[in-house]
Amino acid sequence: MSYIQFLGAAGTVTGSKHLINVSGDISGRSGLQVLVDCGLFQGKKEWRERNWQNLPLDAKEIDCLILTHAHLDHCGWIPRLVKQGFRGPIYATPATIDLCGVLLPDSGHLQEEDAAFHNKFKTSKHDPALPLYTEEEANESLKYFQPVAFGEAKQISPELSFRFVHAAHILGSSMAEITLSANGARSTRLLFTGDIGRVHDQNVAPGKVVYSGPQAGESADVMVMESTYGNRQHPKDDPRPQLADLIRKTVERGGSVVVPAFAVERTQKFLFMLKELMESGQAPRVPVFCDSPMAIKAVEIFLKHTEEYSDATKQLIAKYGSPLKWQGVTFAQTAEESKKINDSRFPCIIISSSGMVTGGRIQHHLTQRLPDPKNTVIFIGFQAPGTRGFTIKSGASQVKIFGQMVPIRAQVAALEQFSDHADTPELMEWLHTFSAKPSATYLVHGEPEASSQLRDAMTKELGWNVQVAQWMEKVEVK
Ligand SMILES: [Zn+2]
Repeated sequence: MSYIQFLGAAGTVTGSKHLINVSGDISGRSGLQVLVDCGLFQGKKEWRERNWQNLPLDAKEIDCLILTHAHLDHCGWIPRLVKQGFRGPIYATPATIDLCGVLLPDSGHLQEEDAAFHNKFKTSKHDPALPLYTEEEANESLKYFQPVAFGEAKQISPELSFRFVHAAHILGSSMAEITLSANGARSTRLLFTGDIGRVHDQNVAPGKVVYSGPQAGESADVMVMESTYGNRQHPKDDPRPQLADLIRKTVERGGSVVVPAFAVERTQKFLFMLKELMESGQAPRVPVFCDSPMAIKAVEIFLKHTEEYSDATKQLIAKYGSPLKWQGVTFAQTAEESKKINDSRFPCIIISSSGMVTGGRIQHHLTQRLPDPKNTVIFIGFQAPGTRGFTIKSGASQVKIFGQMVPIRAQVAALEQFSDHADTPELMEWLHTFSAKPSATYLVHGEPEASSQLRDAMTKELGWNVQVAQWMEKVEVK
């Protein structure tokens, strides 16, 4: 028999890790073992502590890893897996591999920095505080990556093959269609959605970089599907006038705008939108600081992978060229350049990561700017419960950064339209295109409330057999 075991992103939105055991016994002692995604747990402490736990099987026994996309909650545990002895191939699309090449070493670097900070100020209960993995270990893990192009059939063993199809979530993002043909019997098709992107509509999801909505006409016997926005609808109005207005009002009162944003894709998307607003006179021209060494590398990767652009992106790049050459936009590479931004007292826009304020240089900028009511913080991404971003966004009066309570007096705004996740109506729209009902669908990558509401909607509207996956649960694949 074959089974899937949910090792992460079950009951929460982070830590995606799903194990497929092909033709083994339920104890997991035999059979081909394939991991789909290998993400970091982020957010609440009870989840983050799981990053330190070992897997229920020896990492050496995993034969290969199939990676859907380059977000850390899907790939950020890879260096730890390699550290624990995994030596198999890591299959991903070429753009995902390029993005992981900057994201994983950066993640290792941030963890080393955090550990060093905790050791210096004795702010951790662990002595010494250790990084989950180092930058060097992250670099080491990169050599196991092997590119697989979209649509290419990859045979892993006589029993298992897969191909990547477009997920339309971020650059390089894919769903994995996996075919099991155990014992020469009939084959079973598994679909792991990874994260599912928005429908392609510039008015509904403006600034979208990648080309199309998720591939229509899918079929699967068993589906493992994300449910981040399983109980939510994104606003359908254009965020640009609201963004321009927030910037204008902040600048008029002599304040600055701070935007926590993921350095990859979200930052590039936001930069192009700012450029358009400033060029058209809708937003005032103030200096823009992009404080992330990774964002520079990410721009270069974006400019390379033209095969994934939407028409709107093609037009924007033809019109404005590379953001690295724009006047008035400064990319801060070094720590000194970053500190200089802290010193600037004139109105400006600071874009920095991490997007959920879980680490990185954004922490310094918020420590500086949150106490002043003249400033505005604009969230343009999902904030998982337990993150500092979630605390700030939910209207708290203070937030703990670097062990200190920082008062929140700045204006706080959130623009949900930037999301790269399909909302409930968009998910349902995609599911309606399926050519056949899966015999079982397991919902992962959602807060319990979101997953259960999506389960109910899918059961009622589509008549599908849908279950919310539980952490560590094993489900048989027939
Ligand atoms: Zn993602």
